[in-house]
Amino acid sequence: MFPPDFHYYRAETVDEALALLEANPEAELLAGGHSLLPTMKLGLASPPAVVDISGIDALHGVTVDGDVARFGALTRYVTIAEDDALEAACPAVVSAAAAIGDVQVRNRGTIGGNLAHADPASDLPAAALASDATLTLVGPDGERTVPADDFFVAIFTTATEPGELLTRIDVPVLGEEGVGVYAKKPSPSSGYAIVGVAAVLELDDGVVTSARVAANGAFDHAIRLPGTEDALVDERLGEDAIDTAAAAAMDGVDESALMGDHHVSAEYREELLRAYTARALTEAADRAGRTVVVD
Ligand SMILES: Cc1cc2nc3c(=O)[nH]c(=O)nc-3n(C[C@H](O)[C@H](O)[C@H](O)COP(=O)(O)OP(=O)(O)OC[C@H]3O[C@@H](n4cnc5c(N)ncnc54)[C@H](O)[C@@H]3O)c2cc1C
Repeated sequence: MFPPDFHYYRAETVDEALALLEANPEAELLAGGHSLLPTMKLGLASPPAVVDISGIDALHGVTVDGDVARFGALTRYVTIAEDDALEAACPAVVSAAAAIGDVQVRNRGTIGGNLAHADPASDLPAAALASDATLTLVGPDGERTVPADDFFVAIFTTATEPGELLTRIDVPVLGEEGVGVYAKKPSPSSGYAIVGVAAVLELDDGVVTSARVAANGAFDHAIRLPGTEDALVDERLGEDAIDTAAAAAMDGVDESALMGDHHVSAEYREELLRAYTARALTEAADRAGRTVVVD
């Protein structure tokens, strides 16, 4: 369980990190270390160099700035999960952060590391998609922003280019009648999502005016559920709408992309996807003050 030798560098600023990445193109970034270090210890990755960015103060912390919550990439899950103001501003992200792993993982893992690593079983990608997050990447050619919709490309693969650093995640603050939730079936051993569903809904007097619903765990990367979203819009958020929307979870989604593995088969994941879509929407209805009973 010891990784092969590697060079260790520590960056104190974003510019230092970029310079170190340029000088060491094969290097991996070390943020919370809760995916990188296990991967290295298991021999699944052996980067020749590691650039530790955990000490870059400018990338820690969250601010709510008018109608946007700005998360520094190094903000730890515990900071997000325990922030009452954030719970009102972007509840899907808060609820997904609170659902991650165990207390040790939540004390060390970072929002930027979670999104950049793009593990299909991670919790935050679905929350970022449902919350319509925008990710800021900084690289040798300057800064660019990528909508969450374009960020997750494939298993462990994002729109991040070599030499780039994810620095910030912007999440729009929910409207007054908005609700955001995350529901997951966790792996009993690690807590990773076997299936996780995030939903962010805007309502007007109980009627859904916009819906963003996304899943992780079920496919090789987090995706939106267009059938569920379409089924919700213009509907009153009640039992019938929830049943119809959950049944439509696979509409417009490539069935062959469902993952089957040693945890559960693809067929069972499909059932879980519908069940956890219903759970997420039921919780959304409860939060919106519309108690719903789902079988
Ligand atoms: C026992 C255990 C249980 C876990 N359970 C869960 C769970 O239930 N849900 C869940 O979501 N996760 C879970 N995790 C994973 C955990 O959330 C990790 O923290 C997360 O996947 C990676 O974040 P990190 O900050 O630790 O990144 P690191 O491990 O430091 O880095 C991971 C990868 O992301 C890259 N990276 C990191 N930061 C940046 C950045 N700012 N810009 C560009 N690239 C970057 C690195 O180069 C590296 O390749 C678990 C981990 C463990 C060990």
